[in-house]
Amino acid sequence: MNEKILVIEDEKDIAGMIDYNLKKEGYRTVLTHDGLSGAAAALRERPDIIILDLLLPGMDGLEVCRRIKMDVRTVSIPIIMLTAKGEESDKVAGLELGADDYVTKPFSVKELLARVRAVLRRPAAAAETPEVYRAGDIKLDCSRVLALAKGKPLELTAREFELLKALMAAGGKMLSREALLDKVWGMDAALEVETRTVDVHIGTLRKKLKSDGKRIITVKNYGYRFENQ
Ligand code: CA
Repeated sequence: MNEKILVIEDEKDIAGMIDYNLKKEGYRTVLTHDGLSGAAAALRERPDIIILDLLLPGMDGLEVCRRIKMDVRTVSIPIIMLTAKGEESDKVAGLELGADDYVTKPFSVKELLARVRAVLRRPAAAAETPEVYRAGDIKLDCSRVLALAKGKPLELTAREFELLKALMAAGGKMLSREALLDKVWGMDAALEVETRTVDVHIGTLRKKLKSDGKRIITVKNYGYRFENQ
């Protein structure tokens, strides 16, 4: 399932522009136009990320941020604040309340999308958060054993999934063929699997990952590494 993003922004044209661009990137969106309904939507929708304008009618953005970060059910949802120029103190207050990032208005769509991607990539702080890896269009949800490309499930075999997981979890470090055999094939490897088997599976995995397949880099006479950036 694609990430769900809650947008809390009273200026309808800005909200609409953000909404349009997020959808274009494949995200699901929920729009609210004031603080109170924004805070309620955070609880109801449990979005993956919240884009929060600080200057809102009724309950202001800082209060919304405080409520979200004080509630155990919503505390782990990342917040990107939209701040106006000259609202330095609000920005600092928001970050102190637990907001993750901010974008200063007027902002470019490209910049906002980059922040959204960066925040989504960040490993969650909570220990009980399931293992999720992201790179390019790929999202690997280890607790659900689900690999997605642009939000659509990838048809990976169990070995391919484990192989991709081992590569992505290595955080850019090189892994030898032997290490991959050990991680992915484990006991079976001792029996009959040759290191060439790794190469064969890497080959099919690369094809299935399409353009992101390029992220699997061959390290000559050694093994592989995964380019996360
Ligand atoms: Ca506003």
